[in-house]
Amino acid sequence: MQNWLQKRVLLSGGKTALYYQGAQYSFADLKAQADTWSEKLQGLSLPPKAPVGILGANTLATYTLILACWQLGRPIALFNFRLAPAELTTQLKDAQPAVLLVDDSLPDWPGTLAHLPGPILSYPQLAQGPRASFTPVAEFNNHQVADVMYTSGSTGTPKGVLQTFGNHFYSAIGTGLNFKLTSDDAWVCAVPLFHISGLSILLRSLIYGLGVYLEPKFDPVHINQILVDQQGTIVSVVPYMLQQLLAHLPAGAHYNPHFKCLFLGGGPIDPQTLERCVQRGIPVVQSYGMTETASNVVALSFADAPNHICSAGKALFPVDLAIDSAHPQTPGEILLKSPTLAPGYLHQPAAYQAKFTAAGWFKTGDVGYLDEAGFLYIKGRLDTMFISGGENIFPNEITAVYSAFPGVAQVAVIGQIDAKWGAVPVALIKPEAAVQLAAAALRQFGQARLAHYKVPKRFYQVADLPKTGNGKLDLAALKRLDLASLPVIS
Ligand code: ATP
Ligand code: MG
Repeated sequence: MQNWLQKRVLLSGGKTALYYQGAQYSFADLKAQADTWSEKLQGLSLPPKAPVGILGANTLATYTLILACWQLGRPIALFNFRLAPAELTTQLKDAQPAVLLVDDSLPDWPGTLAHLPGPILSYPQLAQGPRASFTPVAEFNNHQVADVMYTSGSTGTPKGVLQTFGNHFYSAIGTGLNFKLTSDDAWVCAVPLFHISGLSILLRSLIYGLGVYLEPKFDPVHINQILVDQQGTIVSVVPYMLQQLLAHLPAGAHYNPHFKCLFLGGGPIDPQTLERCVQRGIPVVQSYGMTETASNVVALSFADAPNHICSAGKALFPVDLAIDSAHPQTPGEILLKSPTLAPGYLHQPAAYQAKFTAAGWFKTGDVGYLDEAGFLYIKGRLDTMFISGGENIFPNEITAVYSAFPGVAQVAVIGQIDAKWGAVPVALIKPEAAVQLAAAALRQFGQARLAHYKVPKRFYQVADLPKTGNGKLDLAALKRLDLASLPVIS
């Protein structure tokens, strides 16, 4: 396929590609900035084909640097700037970038970031360096690795996923067909570019010629303003962001007439929050995917979203889905075949190979079931499931319920060993400031919404929950917590 940046400039170079900090940039503007970065990168005389590491915020510079690397035929390795230096060091040693480019807008630059291993340049340092001429690659090939992207590390060390241009292309096509994307769309990107949720928005922009509102920070008031007063048609959100947008939307305010949906992914959400969106007339489209599948592989359509609000939807056009159980309506591991599936993990071919069945299905590690119409319902992750009195319990289902309990700031659920039942669910709750929670009310809330064996037997109060650098629950650290040392809510 022709180099996507060149192709997009050829097709619609003058069209607005980016809304960023009050200014607008056309695709031709982005290309001009990318060309300048490419000359600077060429001036570094890096070893051929070695990846360029990028530790960047959602900035114009990060975006155009990504484009610059790609038009030089170089893969990028994207890193999460919220990680601790030790975590970043582990990933840098894994990815071995020829140089790490660091966004000078990050608060820790130079600070701790300047001491990371390997050659490092801040964006301004690169800009001040020598330049050399370059020839953009003619093609972005399907099998070519575009980037190394690390998983969230929910259950251990993040894995570097090798994502190809083919993976991204098919992902964009699947989402485009689902959302009927056109160049008139404008996608609000307040999710990080080092995650597939963010990077995939830029790729859809190149492929469909659509606009992107690139937001360095998630500020719910500001994002609501874009959706109310400006032209944003779709915004990608994780459950926390959706709740914040809803909480900060003034009474009587409506999103603009072109608005299509809040595109929700990344984790479970409680039905009450979804109901509130329906009441406010805000369409929400749920989706399911992971880093290994280069963004969502299952999503609701606009037509189905209002009537299937708790489902993640149907497998997108290029994706085949199966449930590893006697019958697809009985929960089992979600299996996938998809051209969006990454070819592997960096340096871990055996670990990736182990994720496939003999028949070539990718084992997602997530459990779900289909209803009679083929809609997928996600139960949770196999690695957090536990058995209580013979019943499978998925903590996700319980945390989604309690995250809607008034006064609960954060909640996690784990299985605690129990002599009678094998294990019982217990909740770890961080209350909102100055809130005193009562166990009886918490129990009653659960009894009204969950099967009795899923209602937590104890509620522990915590000052904070362990999180991964991506802000997801750190499931491995949760399992290591010494419950006996925590106060029980009475
Ligand atoms: P790691 O693989 O390092 O343990 P991770 O699986 O959290 O981390 P990601 O690739 O960022 O890394 O997240 C994908 C996972 O997020 C999925 O496998 C699934 O468990 C969860 N997930 C994604 N979408 C949904 C959803 N709609 N509902 C419930 N869980 C979801
Ligand atoms: Mg995973």
